[in-house]
Amino acid sequence: MKLKKSKRFYKKALSLMPAGVNSPVRAFKAVGGNPIFISKGKGSKIYDIDGNKYIDYVLSWGPLILGHAHPSVVKALKKAVERGTSYGAPTLLEIELSELIKKAIPSIQKIRMVNSGTEATMSAIRVARGFTKRNKVVKFEGCYHGHVDGLLVSAGSGGATFGIPDSLGVPQSYVAETIVLPFNDSETFKKTLKEHYKDIACVIVEPVVGNMGCILPKEEFLKALREETEKYGILLIFDEVMTGFRLCFGGAQDYYGIKPDITCLGKVIGGGLPVGAYGGKAEIMSMVAPEGGVYQAGTLSGNPIAMTAGIETLRILSKPGIYKKLEERMVQLEEGLKDVAKRARAKVQFYRAGTMFCTYFTETEVINAKTARSSDTEKFKKFFWQMIKRGVYIAPSQFEAGFISLAHSEKDIEKTIKAAFEAFKTL
Ligand SMILES: *Cc1c(COP(=O)(O)O)cnc(C)c1O
Repeated sequence: MKLKKSKRFYKKALSLMPAGVNSPVRAFKAVGGNPIFISKGKGSKIYDIDGNKYIDYVLSWGPLILGHAHPSVVKALKKAVERGTSYGAPTLLEIELSELIKKAIPSIQKIRMVNSGTEATMSAIRVARGFTKRNKVVKFEGCYHGHVDGLLVSAGSGGATFGIPDSLGVPQSYVAETIVLPFNDSETFKKTLKEHYKDIACVIVEPVVGNMGCILPKEEFLKALREETEKYGILLIFDEVMTGFRLCFGGAQDYYGIKPDITCLGKVIGGGLPVGAYGGKAEIMSMVAPEGGVYQAGTLSGNPIAMTAGIETLRILSKPGIYKKLEERMVQLEEGLKDVAKRARAKVQFYRAGTMFCTYFTETEVINAKTARSSDTEKFKKFFWQMIKRGVYIAPSQFEAGFISLAHSEKDIEKTIKAAFEAFKTL
């Protein structure tokens, strides 16, 4: 396969943008080599500027649950653009999308639209602090909540740790307000809350961790999060930017039957356009300006074009049988991959929730960041390029989730399984 043009334009991009990209993982640092420049997407496929075609399991990192350029979404967008692209004044579209979301996720009584997942989590934490009059935030190792200063924290292994920043430019004093705990460890969580509850405003979690591959929560862990936060008057924030409308129509909170106080959304609700949202109990959301004293604003928030893509996407997803169809395809891929991995004697662990999944190159059961790190990233790197060579585009990092869309056909999945068999055999 040729990547000549991608190579040439990457050089140019390098002179214009840091690492030639506008978001870090796109630079392919984890797999080496040259990022692939995309020229178009249609259904389950993306096409690069050298004319190569790939079955896409990245789907813009999750949003495109209907596939690329879904005809109904494109049609709605064309019509919307004709009416102007932004007014900075309320529209009926914001009411429509809010109602669709509220119906799917009843724990959201009031919602505020923003422009990205990062904005949603950042604002949700501000609201939680304003509401509880406390400062500290509990997060879990390996969970990503966007590039919010205070959330860019990793942790030492085991036990409770007060964080050190993951990024230059984040003052130690900011992350001193963040407590990082291991995911899926109820005992450490309970102990920490008991000690520090007077200072803790909120606990933020990815109910299924999609930014460390795909790590499933133990049900008792999610239950402990809900019970303990309730006990101490701490707000529970579910960061459903990835899982919302992905695991099922009602998101992870419906899937696992746990109601958070605040939910953060993004990705799917924007149908491929830049959208985020946060919402929750009316009493809490009434803290948001100008109803309350927690300031948060946005020039393009609730943008009519973005709202249109979201509305059309959720409308299609709300039709009966859609998630069943997605699930069927996912099971086909899951069973196929497990089968060929076994036949090729590849030592991998496969996890999935709804249509989010990850294949870890390890023999260890993956339950948290530490066990995820046991993966052989060199093997993953080889696997990645073997898949690319065979026309299958997966995330260029071991620690990212894969996704499938409604546009992925039985044949796409068959091709993918065959490619994976060959790729596993080369390792
Ligand atoms: C993608 C993601 C974010 C950040 O969203 P952006 O739109 O990239 O700012 C936050 N939380 C989770 C769980 C995500 O998957």
